[in-house]
Amino acid sequence: MSDTDKLIQWKTDHLDSVSKSFCAAKWYNASLHLGHGYTNSCHLPLPHPIDLEEIKKNPSALHNTQFKKKIRKMMLEGVRPAECSYCWKVEDIDPDTAGDRIFKSRIYTDKEIEEAANAPWDADIMLKTVEVSFDRTCNLACSYCNAGYSTTWAKDIETNGPYQDFKTTSAGAYHADGSWADLFGKYNDNNPYVQAFVEWWPELSKHLQELRVTGGEPSASHNFWKFLETVKEHPAPDLTLAVNSNLMVHPKLIQKLIDTTKDIDIKGFDLYTSCEAYGPAANYIRSGLDYDQWRANLVKFIEEADYNQVICMMTINSLCLYSITEFMDDMFSLKEKYGMNSPGIDLNILRWPAFQSPLNLVDSEKIKVHKKLAAWYEEKKDHPLMMDHEKAQIERLIKYVDVVEQGHTSTEEDKTKHYHDFKSFYEQYDVRKNLNFRETFPELVEWYDSIEVDKNIPQVKVNNGAITHFESGEYQPDIDKPKHEIKTKWKSVKPEKKKADPAGEYAPDVEKKKSKWTKII
Ligand code: SF4
Repeated sequence: MSDTDKLIQWKTDHLDSVSKSFCAAKWYNASLHLGHGYTNSCHLPLPHPIDLEEIKKNPSALHNTQFKKKIRKMMLEGVRPAECSYCWKVEDIDPDTAGDRIFKSRIYTDKEIEEAANAPWDADIMLKTVEVSFDRTCNLACSYCNAGYSTTWAKDIETNGPYQDFKTTSAGAYHADGSWADLFGKYNDNNPYVQAFVEWWPELSKHLQELRVTGGEPSASHNFWKFLETVKEHPAPDLTLAVNSNLMVHPKLIQKLIDTTKDIDIKGFDLYTSCEAYGPAANYIRSGLDYDQWRANLVKFIEEADYNQVICMMTINSLCLYSITEFMDDMFSLKEKYGMNSPGIDLNILRWPAFQSPLNLVDSEKIKVHKKLAAWYEEKKDHPLMMDHEKAQIERLIKYVDVVEQGHTSTEEDKTKHYHDFKSFYEQYDVRKNLNFRETFPELVEWYDSIEVDKNIPQVKVNNGAITHFESGEYQPDIDKPKHEIKTKWKSVKPEKKKADPAGEYAPDVEKKKSKWTKII
C-alpha cells in the first residue's frame, strides 16, 4: 500500500465513517483574528465575525460561534459546507487525493475524533490547536497579502492610493487600506477579543496542544511579547508554542525569539517561516524579503534555538512555480545538513486573490511548470528526508497544475479577466515596489506582453477592507467541464446562480470524473 493509499484508508476509517463531509478541524482547530474579532476553522474558509456579547459571558465563544456550530451540524449530517470548498474541489478532482481534510484531522487522536463526532452539534468544544493574531504589524508586503494583514501594505495604499483597473472581485483586496483591522486603535489596547482570550487562557492552556501565533509579523508586535508574559504565568507542560515569523526583522528581535525558545516553560517550540520561491523570484513575490538574509536567519535559528521543528510554509502562487524546485532543493540541502525537520516544508495552494492562483496561469505555461515539477518529484520522491505529508502535498500540487487532470476554469471570459488582473496588478506592483516583472520572470514575458490592460475601468476609491461576505452557499465553480466541452460550448456553461446562504451546502464544481475525462482524451 502506498503512503497516499494509507492516508485514504485513514480517511475512510476515521472521517467518512462519521460522514463524507466530517472534518475534525471544525471542532478542535481555529484561527482567531483578535485584531478585528473574526474566526475560522480551519484557516482555509473565509473568517466570520465573533459575537461581542457572547464572549462577555463565555470567552470560549471566541471559537464556538453560532455560525461554526451550524457548520458542524452540516458536517455531522454529511452535507458539504460551501465555506470548505477548497477541500471539496481537491476531492472532486480525484477522490484518491490526500487532501487537507485528512491532514488537518489526523493530528487528533482516535478518541478525540470520536468525542467530536459524538458531541451534540451545539456543544462548546475546547480547542486543541489554535492560531492567533493580535494585530497586523508587519515589515513585509507579500504580493498575495493585503493591508488587512500587513501595516506595510497599509502604508502603500495610504501613500499611493488603491490599486486600479481590475475586472475580478478577488482583486478588490487591493482597494482597501485595512483600517478596519485597527478597530481598537493602532496598538489594540483595550481590545475586548484580546481580553476574552487572556481571560480564557488559564483554562485553555490546560487543554491546548498547540498555540500558533501569527500576524502580521508577531515578533514586530508588542502584543505578542506582552502575551508571552501571560504564557509564562501559566506553565503549560503539554503546550507546543509555534510562532509564524518571516525572519526578516531586526537582528535583536531574531535573537529575542531564539532566547524565548529557551526561557519559556512549555513542551516545545516550533518555528513556522514562509517562502516558496528561490532568490530573486522570492524577493519579487514577497516584497521586502531578501532571500539571502532570510536564509541566513533561518540557519541562525536552526543552529542556536531550542526547538522541535522548523517548517517552511509555501504559499503556492503561479509565479513561484518557476523556481519552486530550486527552492525545495535549497530546503533539502538544509535538511541534509540539519535533519528532516530543519526545515520541513508545507505546501498550501493559494486561492485568493484568484488571479495569482496556479489555476489561473495560462495553460501553455501550466504544461511547462507541470512537466518540470513532475520530473523533479520523480527524481526526489525516494529521498530519505522526504516526509509522507510532503510527498502527498507535492503530488497534490502536480495534479492541481495538470491541465489534463483538472480540466479548465469555468469560462473563457473568466480566464481572460484573471489574466487581465494579473498584468494590471503586477504593472502597478512593479512601480510601487521598485520591482521588475519582466526581468524576474523572463519565461512569462511573451504571454504577459500579449495582455492589454483596460484603462477605461472606472477608478475606485479606497475602502477600509472590512470582510462583509464570509463564504456563502453560492459557490462559484472554477472547474466544471472537460477540455473539449469548454472549447465548443463554453458560453453555455455559466454557473447557475443560487440563493446566498452563509452556511449553505457546497455545490460540486467538478462534474466529470477523471476516468471519463481521460477516456475522452
Ligand atoms: S477547509 Fe477542509 S480542512 Fe479546513 S475545516 Fe473545511 S474540510 Fe476541514
